[in-house]
Amino acid sequence: MAEETIFSKIIRKEIPAQILYQDELVTAFRDINPQAPTHILIIPNKLIPTANDVTAEDESTLGRMLTVAAKLAAQEGIAADGYRLMINCNRHGGQEVYHLHMHLLGGRPLGPMLARRE
Ligand code: AMP
Repeated sequence: MAEETIFSKIIRKEIPAQILYQDELVTAFRDINPQAPTHILIIPNKLIPTANDVTAEDESTLGRMLTVAAKLAAQEGIAADGYRLMINCNRHGGQEVYHLHMHLLGGRPLGPMLARRE
């Protein structure tokens, strides 16, 4: 069994977060350390530690994460200008919290996808 993270407590509303959306499959809340004017995390309610751990059973949840992202982008007023959806996996991906999450970032030009190497 995977270890719970702080995100499970946010889902159960045991610790405060700015929850923008919740249904039976996913929860979305504002990132505590925003990297852009809009920075929202969309997560499965079920504990899936990383992108490596998704299975065919999770496909409806993963699809819901994307439709909720599109809905929230429209709600935030960033849909037309555009935004970035990002999932970090494990060490090389820079994952810090081991509960799968999709970042929704926007509200300013975000620049190239990866920092350029010197
Ligand atoms: P990642 O590096 O992809 O694992 O991203 C983890 C994200 O979770 C970071 O952007 C953190 O700022 C965010 N985060 C960590 N703890 C909280 C929290 N309690 N509430 C909201 N966002 C959080």
